[in-house]
Amino acid sequence: MSHRYHPDPGRDDPPDAKLFDGCERCDEQAQFLVGLDRQNLAWFWSGMDQIKRLGKSPDRDLTENEHLAMNNLYAMAIIFERLSGVWPSPEVLGWVRDIEV
Ligand SMILES: [Zn+2]
Repeated sequence: MSHRYHPDPGRDDPPDAKLFDGCERCDEQAQFLVGLDRQNLAWFWSGMDQIKRLGKSPDRDLTENEHLAMNNLYAMAIIFERLSGVWPSPEVLGWVRDIEV
């Protein structure tokens, strides 16, 4: 993420959230995803794989925007799998080699 200031820090969002709720920029990034940097995109992609595909519980509560981002990535991954026949796990994409998630 390229910004850290959020106008209402008193919300219930976890302090280490990647995308906060009630922030216009985080709302936009959760919807369109292309604003996420490589590190955060890898974090969301890995979380999507673990939580949406494998049904694991997240390490902490996710914000609504984090859920939205993972749902959007999940739809993207399903489309990729339909077209290629391969589930795009982080391992398949090679992210485990150079990005710590
Ligand atoms: Zn924000």
